[in-house]
Amino acid sequence: MGKILFKNARILKMNGEDIFISNLVTNDNLIEYIGDDYEPYGPFDRIIECNENLLMPGFKNAHTHHPMSILKSYADDLPLHEWLFDKVFPIEAKLSEEDVYEFTKLSILECFASGVTACFEYYFHYYAMLKASEEMGMRTYMLLTPSLPEEELAAIHEQYSDPEGLITTCFGLHSVYTPTPEFYEMIIRLVNKYHTPFYIHASETPNEVKECMELRNMTPVQFVESMDLFKYGGGIYHGVVLNDNDYEIIKKHNLTVVTCPGSNTKLASGIADTEKMVKNNVNVAIGTDGPASNNGLDMFKEMWLVTGLQKLLHNDPSAMDAKCVLEMATINGARAMNLTNSDILEVNKFADIILIDLNKPNMRPIHNIVKNLVYSGSKDVVKLTMVDRKIVYEDGKFYVNQDVDEIYKKCQYLADKLTK
Ligand SMILES: [Zn+2]
Repeated sequence: MGKILFKNARILKMNGEDIFISNLVTNDNLIEYIGDDYEPYGPFDRIIECNENLLMPGFKNAHTHHPMSILKSYADDLPLHEWLFDKVFPIEAKLSEEDVYEFTKLSILECFASGVTACFEYYFHYYAMLKASEEMGMRTYMLLTPSLPEEELAAIHEQYSDPEGLITTCFGLHSVYTPTPEFYEMIIRLVNKYHTPFYIHASETPNEVKECMELRNMTPVQFVESMDLFKYGGGIYHGVVLNDNDYEIIKKHNLTVVTCPGSNTKLASGIADTEKMVKNNVNVAIGTDGPASNNGLDMFKEMWLVTGLQKLLHNDPSAMDAKCVLEMATINGARAMNLTNSDILEVNKFADIILIDLNKPNMRPIHNIVKNLVYSGSKDVVKLTMVDRKIVYEDGKFYVNQDVDEIYKKCQYLADKLTK
């Protein structure tokens, strides 16, 4: 898109500086300049008058399964076992590459409309997800697990190894209760060969931890560390049930805990003690989890839940302040995904940015914009989303080189077919 001047914006860099009114210039995929003296950086291909609306880094959804939007509102309000075994698994078993491709695109549209500029994605049918992410222009960090032969996983990882690229990958496992011994061995080999971070769903429910203790006399976190899989960092999704030793392991390896409060609430899994994690200097990022257990991909909803649940858990309205939650949804998520080049607004960082409309009833009056975002914000305040040199969403319209109505139609057709 060449050069864009975002003129006259409130700028929230997320680097600790206060919000200030100024201008921001993007050149191709990078931020070239922030300040008042922007004229030498012209001429510009486009000038966007921001009218003192808020420019900030895009949200990072640090745990999702995009193709699961097929299951959105298909099976809800059911006991966990029934939900999983009678509804989710039978549909998942039938999913084709085409289904995964179409529903990933649908989810990416929802992400762009809610200001998400990067996703930590995990599902199966990698080629379909990669194709969808590339075509739509979504920055994606993809978890690779043994749903393909080892050589194919290695080849995908090597193909997407450029840290400046739109898509990068790391290795992991679904959970400690699903893999066979061969799967563990395969992932151990890959992590050691490529020195990648390792991620896994872990300590999501009390029952999972209890069963792991009975089987191995170790918690899921201890079990993963016993295989030396956290050697190059990484982390866990959920972390609802953690003991003191788990905390030591998390701190020792500088692991991230991706909290998924919407999913944990909907499935009644419990409340992750993110307040305690933050006090222990753990990198806490936020994920929506898949749209079957949420049912949205909305970081505003997740941010509210993170803080609201901590206030309830600790019986303390001062627990988990808004600034800390916003950092989790942006900088900490970037750290979780190895995307430190798109964590804050700074010259030479990626121009993965969003413009927030402050001229909305829920964003006024302005006492504290960060609190407005976390406590009063909703995805309809997202005015513009830019990822990897392209404005992909602006004023309710998508610019993704796709016929959006076709995606809706196709997904409806596939959803009806799959659930018949
Ligand atoms: Zn998950």
